[in-house]
This record gives sequence, structure tokens and C-alpha cells, in this order.
Amino acid sequence: MLRVDLDALTANYAQLCALAPGSEGAAVVKADAYGTGAHRVSNALHKKGCRTFFVATLAEGISLRARLKEARIYVLDGLFPGTSRLFAEHRLSPVLGSLPSLEEWSRARRSGDGFPAAALHIDTGMNRLGLGPDEIPSLLEKAAHYFNAAGIDLVMSHLACADDPDDRSNQTQSHAFGSLLQQLPPCRASLANSAGIFLGKDYHHDLLRPGIALYGGRSVSASRNSMRPVVHLTSHIAQVRTVKKGVPVGYGGAYVTNRKTRLATVPVGYADGYLRALGSTTGKAGASTFIADHEAPVLGRISMDLITIDVTDLPPDLAKPGTDVELLGSNISVDDLADIAGTIGYEILTSLGNRYDRHYTESD
Ligand SMILES: *Cc1c(COP(=O)(O)O)cnc(C)c1O
Repeated sequence: MLRVDLDALTANYAQLCALAPGSEGAAVVKADAYGTGAHRVSNALHKKGCRTFFVATLAEGISLRARLKEARIYVLDGLFPGTSRLFAEHRLSPVLGSLPSLEEWSRARRSGDGFPAAALHIDTGMNRLGLGPDEIPSLLEKAAHYFNAAGIDLVMSHLACADDPDDRSNQTQSHAFGSLLQQLPPCRASLANSAGIFLGKDYHHDLLRPGIALYGGRSVSASRNSMRPVVHLTSHIAQVRTVKKGVPVGYGGAYVTNRKTRLATVPVGYADGYLRALGSTTGKAGASTFIADHEAPVLGRISMDLITIDVTDLPPDLAKPGTDVELLGSNISVDDLADIAGTIGYEILTSLGNRYDRHYTESD
């Protein structure tokens, strides 16, 4: 079962907003709200006053709009040629990232009513999306015209290295953004993702764009994470057996028992986003699971639908079929799993599969 704690989510949102008292909070809910479920998450945040949401794709925007009538929804991937009508039909705001898309959106707006405002994305050093240095002179030449014709109500940029507060590119990007804002018509601005919020006031501008921190993940590397865990993943013991010392466990016999071992099999695997890199071999530990706060390490490789855990040291009455097994939650965080698998919390969350029963807990 995958439990999403909506109270923890909204508490994280409040905590992030409190770090930037002069700014408005938005929420990045792309990739189905990082695997947690965009509809429920957006509704919970909307109830707490969040009125601006960012998705990645047009399809995500259309799906969210069906559930969320009264909110600004920006589509980060921008305007794919020929899709302006769809944006208008679902009242979605493209994040325009090039002069041609700025022109296309302006043309569309001239042709009829019902086109919402749009955001303008400036690339200040990420070299991914947004108007780059080659397009800025043309933008500045006709900025007032573009802003008016395209209905620009937000200028944004994205930080490449905000997870490392010591990285000098943070300041470089922030200065580039600030100096461009001074040359553009007055407009609301947005720079900070989750990590950017922790960089301080200079980075806050008018609108915050947190993603990972809302979902309880660590955004700043090498610092204590003060966000509350939002995702709790539990499975159960399907089968228990006792094997002798020297017995191989799972595919490839990658792990061989070093003592008489009680093994429990749990029906979760890499097809559920419990990544294969979380497995163990004879020489190398993998992830741990928890049974009533007792640690039960993963033994051997992760299969597509199953894992095997070591329950030798647990009280015998606990380690029996049906017992709950915590895979992710209070004892082991998203980032603990990410560190073991050599990845980031973002990938752990967005990998969570569709086989789980998703349950949402919310106090009111
Ligand atoms: C994904 C994304 C965010 C959110 O980033 P987090 O690191 O998850 O807070 C903000 N802005 C843009 C442009 C993004 O693509």
C-alpha cells in the first residue's frame, strides 16, 4: 500500500512559504505530482490557498484542469507548435521558451478570445529550456510588444545547481535574471525551485516553484532535511522459510547466507519502483525494510515482483505471512533509498509504480 500523507504535504508547503514571507507559493505537480497523485495533491494544496500549479506536459495540464477549475496552470514544456487551441480550450498557460513560440502564442491571441496569460522562460545558464543569450537582444528590442501581445504575466528562470548552496553558478544565474528583469516591462518573476527557496531572499522573487520538498524529499544536498515524509510504502510478508548457512538466495545466487537464516518473501519488486539497485550481494549490503521498527535487510537481487528479506533477528511471532513490511516511510526515507541505489529522491518517487493501492490521509 502506498499512503500519501496530505497533512505532511500541506505542512511542507506552509514551511516553504514561511521561508519566503513576501512571495506566493506555487506547486510543481509534474509527473503525477512526483508519483504521489496530482489530483489529490493539487486539491489538498488548493484548499490551503495554493492557486498556481506547474505541470510538464499539455496532457498533464488537461488532466489537472478537469479536476481543478479555479487555478492558474502553467505547462513547463511550453507551446508545442500547433497546440495553442488546446491550451485555450483547457485554460492552460504555456511557459514560452523561444521567440517562435512567443510569436505563435501572440498570433493565436490576436485571432480570438479565451487565451490565458503565459509565462516567459529565460535561460540564465541551465542550457535546457528558455530564451537563450542569442534570443535576448531581439526580445529586448520589442519587449513591450511581446509582453502585451502574448499576455506575459510571469517571467521565470530555473537554477541548475541550487542543491549546492556553495556553487557559484547560483549567484551568476540570479544576477543574470535580476539584470534582465530590470530591462523588461514590470512583471511578476519566479526563480526558486525547492532548493532555491533555501538560498535566501535574493532568490525568492514573487512566486516559489517547489516540487521535491513538498513531497518530503531532500532538496539541498548535505544538509538536514526538515520536510515531513509524505510517502509511506508498505507491503507484507508472503512467505517465510528457514535455510541453512551457505545457501544462495534469489536470481543468480548473488547472496549466499552466512548463517542459518530466516527468510521472508515480500511481493514488491523493481516493477513497482523498488529499484534493482537496492538489492544486496554477498559482499555488499543493500536496502533495509522495517517490521514494527525492527530492521530487516534485503538479501540478494530485487526481482520484478518480489524481494527477500532477512528476518532472522526478529521476534518469531512478528515474522509471519501477512505481517506489514515498511519499505519507505518513517524508518527509511526517500533519500535513504536514493543514496543506497545511487540515485536521487526524485527518481525514487517518480518510479513508484501503478500496482499499489494509493491511500490518502488528510485530517479535515
Ligand atoms: C521540476 C521543476 C521545478 C521543481 O523543482 P524541485 O527541485 O523539485 O523543487 C521548478 N521549476 C522547473 C522549471 C522545473 O522543471
